[in-house]
Amino acid sequence: MKRIALLGATGSIGRQALEIVAAHPELELVAAASGSQPIDGLAPQTQVGGDLTELLELSQPDVVLNAVVGFAGLPATLWTLERGVDLALANKESLVAAGELALAAQRRGGGRLIPVDSEHSAAFQCLEGRAHETVDSIVLTASGGPFRGRSRAELADVTPEDALAHPTWDMGPKITTDSATLANKGLEVIEAHFLFGLDYDAIEVVVHPTSTVHALVRFRDGGVLAHLGYPDMRVPISFALTYPERAATPVPALDLSQGLTLEFEPPDLDAFPLLRLAREAGERGGTYPCAFNAANEVAVAAFLERRLPFLGIADVVETALDAADGSDARDLDELVEADAQARGLAERRLVAA
Ligand code: NAD
Ligand code: MG
Repeated sequence: MKRIALLGATGSIGRQALEIVAAHPELELVAAASGSQPIDGLAPQTQVGGDLTELLELSQPDVVLNAVVGFAGLPATLWTLERGVDLALANKESLVAAGELALAAQRRGGGRLIPVDSEHSAAFQCLEGRAHETVDSIVLTASGGPFRGRSRAELADVTPEDALAHPTWDMGPKITTDSATLANKGLEVIEAHFLFGLDYDAIEVVVHPTSTVHALVRFRDGGVLAHLGYPDMRVPISFALTYPERAATPVPALDLSQGLTLEFEPPDLDAFPLLRLAREAGERGGTYPCAFNAANEVAVAAFLERRLPFLGIADVVETALDAADGSDARDLDELVEADAQARGLAERRLVAA
């Protein structure tokens, strides 16, 4: 029996995780949490809002699936890594904001960190068992979102409804907006840097509209391994929850009998500057990734509330990054301070806009 604690149980990832847990008698849901929606009866221990680490203390899980959205998922990520409990991580924001602290906690705790983000699950599988020095680079694919192919000028008037119509993935509103701006891929570049210990120049992003190839790993001998499959988050969720057994899922394997064409193109950094801003924040290090994430969360919320135009999201993030202090955070308190500072800078820019 594996005891599972599911944080963010009412969300897109959370609901798909419930389906996976229900299909496997060896997975036992011992705790479930959400931000505000009721979740009575889902698990022996449940919690709505508040400090999720209390729920984790009480329920003693073997695996925590962190599918909370945003910086709010950070305490649970750190709690899990510090205690050596296995972490199935969908909440990329916590690793982006607190990469160094999270890795230090994992080194002390000794548990596993298994990515649920589809590209990172794919890269993790291609990298598994390979020596670090044999890896040349990794490639994360991006669908390009609903606005792929549009110029900057053509993005001026797009609405939240337009942004929320994602072509290949059915996800929560925050990550769907991030996919439309390519901020999501920017967060994923930083996530990959921390997960796989790779320099930023060894992490490439390529637009691949059908999301059939999730990631590729290039090795020093010229060989390239790729992970393919239909875009369905139940695959990486199941992989992480049943690791290392790789249990069956209802998702069919890729059918090639009708032919299959794979297309790739470079991302347009002029129309989608958040990908560049994220990479720059990652390269600067310190709390710049935390500031990127915080300002992006504020700007995305404002866009979804129609207080900010689509192109304003990148402007707000760039302004906040320019003014952020960026110095290293030695502990969670300092990180929370850096997050709050960047949120304040972003809010001020919103008022000025
Ligand atoms: P969602 O908006 O559908 O769900 C978010 C969940 O988090 C909800 O259950 C909500 O109640 C909970 N939550 C929010 N604030 C909380 C708080 N303060 N305390 C406790 N719970 C809180 O989002 P999602 O699409 O399921 O994404 C969740 C995370 O997984 C995000 O970090 C996202 O980037 C990542 N992710 C999602 C997908 C996907 O396909 N949906 C793919 C890759 C990565
Ligand atoms: Mg992803």
